[in-house]
Amino acid sequence: MLSRRKLLKTLSSVPVVGGLVGTGLLAPQLLSAAVTKPATRNFFKELGLRTFINAAGTYTSMTGSLMSEEVTSAIVFGATEYVDLDELQDKVGERIAELLECEYATVSSGAFGAMSIGLAGVISGMDSDIAAQLPDTTGLKNEVIIQEGHNIGYTHALLNVGAKLVVVKTKKEMEKAINKNTAMLWFLNANTDNGEVKYDEFIALGKKHKIPTFIDCAADVPPVENLFKFTKMGFDLVAFSGGKGIRGPQSAGLLLGRKDLIKAARIHTPPRGSTIGRGMKVNKEEVLGMLVALEMYLAKDHGKEWKLWENQIKLISDSALSVKGVETEIHVPPYANHVPSLRISWDNKIVKITPEEARKRLMEGHPAIATVGDKETIGITTWMMDPGQERIVAKRVKEVLENV
Ligand SMILES: *Cc1c(COP(=O)(O)O)cnc(C)c1O
Repeated sequence: MLSRRKLLKTLSSVPVVGGLVGTGLLAPQLLSAAVTKPATRNFFKELGLRTFINAAGTYTSMTGSLMSEEVTSAIVFGATEYVDLDELQDKVGERIAELLECEYATVSSGAFGAMSIGLAGVISGMDSDIAAQLPDTTGLKNEVIIQEGHNIGYTHALLNVGAKLVVVKTKKEMEKAINKNTAMLWFLNANTDNGEVKYDEFIALGKKHKIPTFIDCAADVPPVENLFKFTKMGFDLVAFSGGKGIRGPQSAGLLLGRKDLIKAARIHTPPRGSTIGRGMKVNKEEVLGMLVALEMYLAKDHGKEWKLWENQIKLISDSALSVKGVETEIHVPPYANHVPSLRISWDNKIVKITPEEARKRLMEGHPAIATVGDKETIGITTWMMDPGQERIVAKRVKEVLENV
């Protein structure tokens, strides 16, 4: 078994594609696929769709992230042969667990799917009759305790399984809410600051009452360390999106943690049919794509990438600041989408356009540029751009603010 440090060293000391072969991480066959030409048909054009520069970030509505050629090669490779789905998931799960130094892992249908099958497994254990009963949780432990500040839309993944959410505000309330029907404690990493109970207390509470703890870390890569941190910290189950910072298939994700719980989660997934997870299918193409995306992500020079993002953001910021009346703020969200980010605002007596209009113009211009924002600001990140696109964005932002 390769230690992480050794693996990272091996991976970073060799040229990217060729280097993976010798490590046994990439089958040699993947190499030939890596030179496969991309499709020559422009499907989006044929369909009358406009593509755009993504200056916004990893948004499902914008189709998430872009996959590297190594990842798409793995997907293409997967499409050419049959294998047993369970055996593939077993082997890839073991490989991912080794890479991430955790007990076990599986490739899920996104972080959302990981939450559903994770909770389903917690409720059912290895009992396939109970699996077939869900989402009817009559007679089963079905309460999931969450903090009020963590209760955003994604908890629907838990409701889908038949869970009842018990929303609490304080540590006292949380401990009091635990009873014989409590199935799981669920934590949203992105909203860590919005809840009184922090990691250690949360995990300790779960351990004290023998209730599994789950942390949703969907958008918490980077930093790369987070892929290791939360399983080691003691969370029983940890979920990541595959198609955000890791840049794997957008419809894939990772469920990491305790082997008994992940084995139980797997009884809810295809090929088994009478389950709540049957529609959350992940086939071989996405499983391989997810594995290779993870390998590529771990092997990356993260410091260099960070520097690139900082430089890109500064370039766009400087360009915006060259327009009179404009102000910018460079910030890094502490949790979730933890990347250099830019907020642009202006004195609307000098720059006579609203942020909404400016964003619309960016999106309708050539090339189209997607941003985020609100009534007062435009928000930009560069981590989902191709290198070089920051110059186009810098130029267009200036033009729009100058109202040309
Ligand atoms: C994106 C996101 C999800 C959903 O993840 P998918 O991989 O799209 O299923 C869940 N929780 C949070 C906090 C997210 O940001």
